[in-house]
Parts: sequence; structure tokens; C-alpha cells
Amino acid sequence: MLQKVPNFLTLDVEEWFDAELPRRRLSEPFDEISSIEKQIDLYIDICNRYQIRSTCFVVGKLAEKKPHIVKKLHEHGHEIASHSYGHKLVYSMKPEEFKEDLHRSVSILEALTGEKIKGFRAPSWSVTSVIADWFYATLEGENLLYSSSVFPAKTFLYGMPGANSNIHKAAGSSIIEIPQQLANLGIIKTGIAGGTYLRLLPAPVVQAFIRMKNSQGKPVFIYLHPWELLYQKYPVQLSFTENIIQYYGVKRNAAKIGSICESFNIQLERMDEFISSFLAQNE
Ligand SMILES: [Zn+2]
Repeated sequence: MLQKVPNFLTLDVEEWFDAELPRRRLSEPFDEISSIEKQIDLYIDICNRYQIRSTCFVVGKLAEKKPHIVKKLHEHGHEIASHSYGHKLVYSMKPEEFKEDLHRSVSILEALTGEKIKGFRAPSWSVTSVIADWFYATLEGENLLYSSSVFPAKTFLYGMPGANSNIHKAAGSSIIEIPQQLANLGIIKTGIAGGTYLRLLPAPVVQAFIRMKNSQGKPVFIYLHPWELLYQKYPVQLSFTENIIQYYGVKRNAAKIGSICESFNIQLERMDEFISSFLAQNE
């Protein structure tokens, strides 16, 4: 019998104004309108409907301001992991600054959940080969077990071209990396199962991609943001391309996620539970 390949549903829990493109266009002070409570409720409804326990990477400053969001996700059986404190690009920080930012976020989340935080996702996939050594050493220093931060190709904002695209132990570190799975379209590599990519593509394409990767033995994670689940016009002027990246398909996205989850006769796992069995098998 073929061994079942796990897949994961992940949510990067942040406000629309934490996302890189609107953040760059904002001048302080700005109108912090937020629909995040409604967006989180919608997410929890989808997960309950399909009996999914997911991994939620939470921004620390949001957890500090709205702790009830973290508690609610945790109470519904979702793993709480770190998405940094301030949602700054990791490659824009000095190692010492990143260490403080990470520690602050982990402390807040552990106090809220009463559990050890095990995972981290870098804001906007902002890990590069230049910073990889100190990045993983800092996660290890904070006693984390895994990272899901690598986009193994180059884009205008992020990416680590040539990175190992399998789940692997980071070089010289105990940290397990769960990289994003990409599609090879000739010389171009592209994301499929999350963010703007998922909103641009029809659900059957995303489903076919996940099945194809699974047939190669590769687990796939779907990733979403709360601001991708419920349309909300931001009080900020975006360019034509930025508008597509931020808004395209948002109104249809919750239904699309539902149809993707419905079509799979699989249990989507929490990353921490997968990591426990991965470490046990690879000891
Ligand atoms: Zn983020």
C-alpha cells in the first residue's frame, strides 16, 4: 500500500496593513480599519466544516493587541506558531534585531496558549541564502523545531533560488524546513497553493497540482491570510499590479478553499504533529 503523503492548511495571521505592499504605501498615522475577527470566524467555520486542524503562524504585535483571536484559534484545535513580532522582512534585519523580534513573539504566544511554540514562518518568505546560517541558528536558539519560510525561486520581493524543495534539516542546524512547493513552467517556477497564486488559479488546477506533488511523495501546504478571506477595501492607494496582488479573487476565495478541501479525501495535518513523527522517523 502506498504511504499517505500529508498536506497542511496554514494561515498567516496578520492584518492587511502588515502585508508588504500596502505597508509600503502607508504613511503614519493611518486608519487601522480591521475585519480580522470576522475573517478568523470565517476561517474557523471552513475548518470545522471539513474537520481540519491547521497551523496558524501569528504576528506577535497582533497577538498582543487582540489576544482573543489567538485563544479562539487555539481552542478550536489549531496549532499556534510564530510569524515574527513586527512582520518585518527577515533579510532587512540584523541578526540581533531578529533574535529580539522572534523571542518577543514566541514569549507572547506561549503565554497565551500555555504551550511551547515550535514553528516559525518568515514574513513574505524573506529568508535568503545570505542570511540562512544566522536565521536557522536563531530559531534553534529559541528552541523551535521547524520553519516554513523558504520559497525556492526568485521573485521581485522574496525567494531562495536553488534551495532544497524537499522537507529537510537546514544545513548545520537542527531546524526542519518545510519549503513551499512550486510548479515548474519551463524556466519559470511559480507558487500555486497559496496567497495570490491560489486566488488567480481555478480550484481544479490547485487540486491537480497537490495531487501531482503527492504522487511524487511531496507534501504540500496551502497558505492563506485573513485578509484574503473577506473583501475589505483598504484606505490606501495601490498601483494596478498591487491591486491584483492584494484583491484579485478575494470575494471567491473562501468558497474556493472550501471546494479544494471538500474534493480531497484526506486529513490536512498540523505541522507540529507532522514534525514530531518526522523527527521520530529520522532519528
Ligand atoms: Zn505575513
